Amino acid sequence: MKISDGGKPSLFETASNPKHGIYVHIPFCQRKCAYCDFYSLTDLTLRQPFVDSLLQEMALVTSDEVRSDTLYFGGGTPSVLTQQQIETIMQQAKDLFTLTPDAEITMEVNPGTVTQDYLNFMRQIGINRINIGVQSFSHNILEFLGRIHSPGHATQVIQQARKAGFDNVGLDLIFGIPGQDASTWQDDLKTALVFAPEHLSCYILSIENGTHLDQMRKSKAFEPAPEQHIADLFCITQQILKDAGYEQYEISNYARIDNGEKAWRSRHNQKYWSFAPYTGLGPGAHSYRAPLRYWNVRDVGLYSAALAKGRLPIQESEKTTTEQQITEAIYLGLRTCDGIDIAHFEKLFQIDFNQQYGDTLKTLYEENLVIVDNSRCALTSKGMLFHNSIVERLIP
Ligand code: SF4
Repeated sequence: MKISDGGKPSLFETASNPKHGIYVHIPFCQRKCAYCDFYSLTDLTLRQPFVDSLLQEMALVTSDEVRSDTLYFGGGTPSVLTQQQIETIMQQAKDLFTLTPDAEITMEVNPGTVTQDYLNFMRQIGINRINIGVQSFSHNILEFLGRIHSPGHATQVIQQARKAGFDNVGLDLIFGIPGQDASTWQDDLKTALVFAPEHLSCYILSIENGTHLDQMRKSKAFEPAPEQHIADLFCITQQILKDAGYEQYEISNYARIDNGEKAWRSRHNQKYWSFAPYTGLGPGAHSYRAPLRYWNVRDVGLYSAALAKGRLPIQESEKTTTEQQITEAIYLGLRTCDGIDIAHFEKLFQIDFNQQYGDTLKTLYEENLVIVDNSRCALTSKGMLFHNSIVERLIP
């Protein structure tokens, strides 16, 4: 790899999370959803040229002697690739990257794009975790979001994934949708629980600038859900999933607990919150190896053009300052329910945590927003609703 910090061990590598993660961004979707601002194109004729470029990018970054214990196909919609294209990328990853034997290999799937045969194939080639973009089991909500699939497609794909042999199934759901009342959201959660997924991500709908939903809001086609209502739905989510035997391990993420074992957290996503090193491949993908962060051009044409010349398609890189790293360690640490590991934080930054943040933390504690003990600092359930403002209070 051309960008390097000189091969020094990563500042943020810890004994519990020493390995690399690999993210592959597949920038295609059958149709753009109304709320989506991820980089993806709907011209599927560009898939093969993209795959050819991706294989070149993988070959260029492979000189790193790093072990990876996660490989994550996200997007976009990875499942719009053909079986052959997915297999070629998987083979290249196996050939070029040192994947550990127990590597978590995840692929995101849109329910409107796969068949039983496709899912069987995914499993056969070594993908061992599937993340299904269900979003909702309500026809009206799926229509509002502009999804290509129906509730029936979603339930069918979950069942087909089980039949294909996936024993690590994650479902994505969205709440806080205009017009969605508490009982509709409860129904979504209860329907999801029928399938006993190993993992659930429950995201609050975010209306991003430039999306179709943003235009609709500006033209007053709908009123965004009130903040208090969203807070109520968030609390309902925590309660229902806790009662069903799931641990919330990050603001939006829940993992099933089996016989007291917390075995189903997303190993890959935890890397983002714990500053483990990761490499992002594909247009717009970000990579991180403390203190260096870099990201690829967000354009398939420019991406392929750079690779055709034998260059990595990096748009920009930055060396994060200690101040940036501290902010991120607090921002990301407080997203997780394990919170900030105070001893680790102090060792990394040579800061006395209590001396630096003690006064603010005392006030936050009195407001029931944080829990602090000798080893960790985490948000309370109530605090999670105010994550951004709490971080701003800690780091003005
Ligand atoms: S399928 Fe996913 S990536 Fe594609 S447009 Fe919809 S939300 Fe965005």
